[in-house]
Amino acid sequence: MRGKKVYIVIFIISIIGLAIVQYQYLRIGLNLAKIQFNQKIGLAIHEIKNDLAQPNQLTFLVGKAITKDSIYFNLAADSIQEASRYFMNDFLKDKLLQHGIKTAFTYNLYAKDSTDYLRSPKSYGDKNDLLKYTLTLDGYLPTLVKKRLILELRFQNLNSYFLSQLNGLTIPSLLFILAIIIVIFWVLKSFYWQQHLITTTNEFINNLTHELKTPVFSIGIASKILLEKATQENKELVGMIRNQVTKLNSQIEKVLDLASLESKKGFINKKIVDFKPVILTIIKEFEQIAALENINFIGEAKGNSYMLMCDSYHLENAINSLLENAKKYAKEHSHIEFLAVKENKKLTIRVKDNGIGISAADKKKIFDKFFRVSSGDVHNVKGYGLGLNYVKRIVKLHKGKITVLSSLGKGSEFIISLPLLS
Ligand code: ADP
Repeated sequence: MRGKKVYIVIFIISIIGLAIVQYQYLRIGLNLAKIQFNQKIGLAIHEIKNDLAQPNQLTFLVGKAITKDSIYFNLAADSIQEASRYFMNDFLKDKLLQHGIKTAFTYNLYAKDSTDYLRSPKSYGDKNDLLKYTLTLDGYLPTLVKKRLILELRFQNLNSYFLSQLNGLTIPSLLFILAIIIVIFWVLKSFYWQQHLITTTNEFINNLTHELKTPVFSIGIASKILLEKATQENKELVGMIRNQVTKLNSQIEKVLDLASLESKKGFINKKIVDFKPVILTIIKEFEQIAALENINFIGEAKGNSYMLMCDSYHLENAINSLLENAKKYAKEHSHIEFLAVKENKKLTIRVKDNGIGISAADKKKIFDKFFRVSSGDVHNVKGYGLGLNYVKRIVKLHKGKITVLSSLGKGSEFIISLPLLS
């Protein structure tokens, strides 16, 4: 659960980081666009100033407009004014375009004494003004009116203009961030969905096994009573029922043990225990089974006491599972060795068989829940692939390690090592 949260936090931090980096790039881009704009405008202004300093058609017309001289053109002063406004506007627009500046602008031609001579036909209001350039005119026009003339250029909505120039960068990067977010959300969603599915499946299995427990228990009791009263004739049949019920019961116990380990972390109940007597019981019980089933078994427990911080019940179950597997996955002339020994403040338990063995590829998977080797003879052996998963969990909960040495066809050796208290 904590692991998932860490991933989500890392994801959110990365996305925020990415967004900040993009924002910084955008700011740098905007600044560069402004610098570029300033360079272009510098060149354009230089040319505008030069052209307006010369006597030419435009300056002549503007001259007539600002001196309100209507005689030459034989037109009303207002009309000359109006015409020159448009001519000036077109001239400036042209010059700016020649230097790659397409953004909207307004202009104003006035004298130092605040006389307003000429204004651009369009006005955008003061709010949108971002950049203002003032040029003091030389030459023809100032000489004509004998005043210092100033041409002011104002550029509108520059930020959106710059942004539109950066669109080639901003839109793709926003789209990519969006795509990353969508994909990660999708991955997280399916991950949670899968987790949910696993939890509900586990819950279902647990509930089902719980439900099975009571009838199996009742059949067990009933078959026991029946066995005591059975006649020679049906003794075998009742015996069979009893055997199968015992098997079924042990499978149910396995599933429930594993389920309880998964549902509650601190489920196991550890105490300081001398585990040697438990090991001796395990050996003794298996010796009986081996004698019955014709297995050559050697069990040995070295050293005096095995002081462990452990849950005896689960640890005993785990070791028995290894012995059971050694018996289950045997070949003819089964030989099983069990050894418990104290080594470097550790209790090492070895369960060795000369059975069918495990291939290198399967060795990596045998501790996975529900995994069963699915080839050859193994099919004949019943199981759910839960045993080794349970063993590994128990060993882990005891801060121990489990390893397996095995080669296909030759046999296997499972080694558990557990930390000893003394
Ligand atoms: P189950 O025995 O119910 O299938 P386990 O988790 O105990 O489940 O074992 C998983 C698989 O590992 C088994 O299906 C078997 O193929 C393999 N395996 C376990 N122990 C041995 C062994 N001693 N020798 C050979 N194969 C084994």
